[in-house]
Amino acid sequence: MHFIDTHCHLDFTEFKLDLEQQLAHAHALGVDYFVVPGITIKQSESLLAFSERYSQCRVAAGLHPYFIDQHTDEALHQLILFAQNNKHHLVAIGECGIDGTCPQLPWQQALFAEQIKLSNMLQLPLIVHHRQSHHLIAQTFKQTPPKFGGVIHAFSGSLQQAQYYIKQGFKLGVGGTISYERASKTRKVFSQVPLECLLLETDAPSMPLSGHQGKVNEPRRLLDVFEYLCQLRSEHPEQIARQLYLSSCTLFRI
Ligand SMILES: [Zn+2]
Repeated sequence: MHFIDTHCHLDFTEFKLDLEQQLAHAHALGVDYFVVPGITIKQSESLLAFSERYSQCRVAAGLHPYFIDQHTDEALHQLILFAQNNKHHLVAIGECGIDGTCPQLPWQQALFAEQIKLSNMLQLPLIVHHRQSHHLIAQTFKQTPPKFGGVIHAFSGSLQQAQYYIKQGFKLGVGGTISYERASKTRKVFSQVPLECLLLETDAPSMPLSGHQGKVNEPRRLLDVFEYLCQLRSEHPEQIARQLYLSSCTLFRI
């Protein structure tokens, strides 16, 4: 079986010393490709060299709401220019979105809308971060509809919310959250939506699985996420793996 980790921050310092090993270890388990999101303009620019060095990594460019204080008008302008000039090296715009626990919500929303426009202009999908913000994301989608879909990273929410995103052309990112019993609502959603709407992701080095709390999450844990997902689904594991791989390739044109 083959897999794609559709969301992992492999350029973070946590992997500075052992990235080659991490990639090799994951690859031995069948993880062929890794999608590495952009989080600031500087870091998005640096991902070009990163993807040249690690050819199994595909990269995106975006302004993540966690770093809202760094995202000036100038940074947005630079992102637009950078993405236009390097469109063929990018698989998506993001990680962008709205985080209800971060400051400057009106500016977060404006930046998100601008990144939706950018993805529409470049015909690229979006990698969307959400946290206590489904209503604000829906509001932004209404004002600035995304045309090329994307993924709702680390989806958690109700079946109704899931169906709304699917209708907007989005996939739902399935990560380590489902390893926790407390995520029963999200687990149920992942068991109910069509298999074609799901993608696998680790969010490494963040979001360690149950039993690994406090540790650096690693891309090889994608297989664990897959096993947890298989427990929730009625399809055969091979069919699940094949569909998720196909959906990932199609969305990110890998
Ligand atoms: Zn992320």
